[in-house]
Amino acid sequence: MSADHAEPRARLEAELHGLREAIDAGGESAATVELDQTRVGRLSRMDAMQQQAMAQGTRSRLDIRRRKVEAALARITAGTYGLCCECGLRLSDERLSADPAAVFCADCAAERELG
Ligand SMILES: [Zn+2]
Repeated sequence: MSADHAEPRARLEAELHGLREAIDAGGESAATVELDQTRVGRLSRMDAMQQQAMAQGTRSRLDIRRRKVEAALARITAGTYGLCCECGLRLSDERLSADPAAVFCADCAAERELG
């Protein structure tokens, strides 16, 4: 892998752009649901609340991913990209191409999932 990480940087920047658009679009639909709640009956209100909860769930997942991608771009800038944040070992190219925003090596990620 080249030292300037041009390829993962391009992938991360493209993904970040898509995430920001999706978050903006999701924000609009969540606001619409909230407006509707004032006009609809009790049963529809339950539906609306459920829809809003789903929209918020999607939004928070997008937001978590956005922060992860931003952190990966920051690590490229800082020169620590591709190093495990737990043990400091270099992540495999395989792992980084599967997820260019990966934070931990396979061993540390497995340990965190178990613990
Ligand atoms: Zn590690």
